[in-house]
Amino acid sequence: MMETSQQRQGGIAVKMLDLKKQHSRIRKELDEAIAGVVDSCRFINGPQVGQFAASLAAYTGARYAVPVGNGTDALQIALMALGLNPGDEVIVPAFTYIASAEVIALLGLTPVMVDVDYDSFNTTADNIQRAITRSTKAIIPVHLFGQSCPMESILEVAREHRLHVIEDNAQSIAARYTFSDGTVRQTGTMGTFGCISFFPTKNLGCMGDGGIIISDDQTKAQRAKLIASHGQSTKYYHDIVGCNSRLDTLQAAILSVKLRYLDECTAHRQSAAAIYDEGLRGVKGITTPKRMKYSTHVFHQYTLKVAGGQRDGLRQFLSDNGVESMVYYPRPLQRQQAFRGIARYGDNLEVSEQLCGEVLSIPMHPELTAEEQNYVVEKIKEYASTHL
Ligand SMILES: *Cc1c(COP(=O)(O)O)cnc(C)c1O
Repeated sequence: MMETSQQRQGGIAVKMLDLKKQHSRIRKELDEAIAGVVDSCRFINGPQVGQFAASLAAYTGARYAVPVGNGTDALQIALMALGLNPGDEVIVPAFTYIASAEVIALLGLTPVMVDVDYDSFNTTADNIQRAITRSTKAIIPVHLFGQSCPMESILEVAREHRLHVIEDNAQSIAARYTFSDGTVRQTGTMGTFGCISFFPTKNLGCMGDGGIIISDDQTKAQRAKLIASHGQSTKYYHDIVGCNSRLDTLQAAILSVKLRYLDECTAHRQSAAAIYDEGLRGVKGITTPKRMKYSTHVFHQYTLKVAGGQRDGLRQFLSDNGVESMVYYPRPLQRQQAFRGIARYGDNLEVSEQLCGEVLSIPMHPELTAEEQNYVVEKIKEYASTHL
């Protein structure tokens, strides 16, 4: 507290996230977990890896968890475990991080980009349905910014067309989806596979790279596990072509500590979101994130839409006033050079295009103070009153 007010005298700075502050609260536990691994020297596949995988599976409600090197590997290995063939099509939203689609292309499959819903930022069953052809084999719905995709209708389309579903749950660990019959499931546990990233800035982040694949399908989970370890069933006996993707023992030990605080951190994000909602209600030209009825929101990002072509202007104004912000994402996948000649594009991707010009994510993390938030709100209002 003291430190914060001292910093303020030299000008206010509000950061997108504050890992230092987050770690300082649990530093003793983290240090002990790290020291335990250093003392054991079991840096690869130490007992902490299995322990963490079991805790994470229990936390999400999934039966199996396969730890891997990062969230992108999780997606790639999940796709590999489906046993698709070159030329098979995989549907993915055009408004997402590159990793969701990159892995499809990397495996010689065809990414098919579909549009998203303007309110939720997520793709819909209708958009997916329209892009399905005889070659379509799988869908990768992405639970963007902390909220679930409309999974009931997506799963229905998948069932109807016999498509696999791999949930890209890099951003939405702990979000809960409610089906129309009242059943509640965590994101990542509704498709064949759920893929989670532990990149340091994610809601559950480690101190380097990390990821995990979750599944209820024993055969497919075993196949993913085999692929992640060189397709090796017994030492030096390789059944299939795999790769090398592991969660370090150190990262697993760190994640076990941080998982214990995930619910508390999520609750803090949600209260911070409520403060922004209240402060920014009715501000002309600013749209706050919509909560969908079927999902809880874990606020990986708090993403505004800024009208009138003023997004970059607002971002500059905030920056001049010491407030960080980020554009996730400035360019939709259909305009990424990397996919030219490889991808197929859905009929209409205009929402993705529009969002890339309007979105602005403002500081959101569990350590954010009401004082910092009020300052951010005040600055946004100041800009809006003259420019929007
Ligand atoms: C972060 C992220 C990934 C990739 O995770 P890494 O651990 O960085 O490889 C994939 N998809 C989405 C939507 C992400 O935000």
